[in-house]
Amino acid sequence: MSDMYELFAVRYGHHDRRAAANFLGGDPHDGPMPLDYYVWVIRGERQSFVFDTGFDPEVGVRRSRTLLRPVGEGLKMIGLEPAEVEDVIVSHMHFDHAGNHGLFPRARYHLQDTEMAYCTGRCMCHHALRHPFDLEDVTAMVAKVFAGRVTFHDGSSEIAPNLTVHKVGGHSKGLQIVRVLTRRGWVVLGSDASHFYANFEQGRPFPILESLSDMLEGFDTMRRLASSPQHIIPGHDPLVLKRYPAALPGVADIVRLDAEPAGAD
Ligand SMILES: [Zn+2]
Ligand SMILES: [Zn+2]
Repeated sequence: MSDMYELFAVRYGHHDRRAAANFLGGDPHDGPMPLDYYVWVIRGERQSFVFDTGFDPEVGVRRSRTLLRPVGEGLKMIGLEPAEVEDVIVSHMHFDHAGNHGLFPRARYHLQDTEMAYCTGRCMCHHALRHPFDLEDVTAMVAKVFAGRVTFHDGSSEIAPNLTVHKVGGHSKGLQIVRVLTRRGWVVLGSDASHFYANFEQGRPFPILESLSDMLEGFDTMRRLASSPQHIIPGHDPLVLKRYPAALPGVADIVRLDAEPAGAD
């Protein structure tokens, strides 16, 4: 039988924001449009994978983001012991995706060549490009490189059977997305390739950009890799928690992405 995976979105944070800040060129119907912060768990029969590592409490305070539940606690709630995780996939090095450096002491980290070069090179001389990166996240990843704990990818790579990463760039130069086979078909975890459903559905990019053309191409890449548009999971949309069923009774913000979503509203 082909390898299939269970899939979870684990919310850990929240940030109130207005719609105008979520679209390049603003939004004529400006109103509240908050961001949720997630990490994702890909659970196979033999092994589990963590996609993105979130921010830790100190960074949440410094950046005025609300930490709802430490990332490690959310993982433990679905039976995943962070200290036992062997593979972590990092979509990109922004502060809300690459923190909690000590949480996975055994893990090997999967990252695109381009992302590491981007966040350690000349583009970081520019405040506008540097701002979403945290120096400690970058230096901690450099330390992992020197410790032999990083596997670099260039483009598309297979991490495990029916689990692949794909570089799309756009939002950050080496941003990668994940494609994974589940009981409902091929699901794409887009992370910040699309913060909200509205970004890719309406072709309206989020304004933090390294390349507009790569971001627009990335929307098409997600559609091509997913079994249907309902199989694409945006990186920060509170609607994910509304559309997918709770993984645990009484816990609304850990959901099963391998289950059929409720209809779009
Ligand atoms: Zn980002
Ligand atoms: Zn993000």
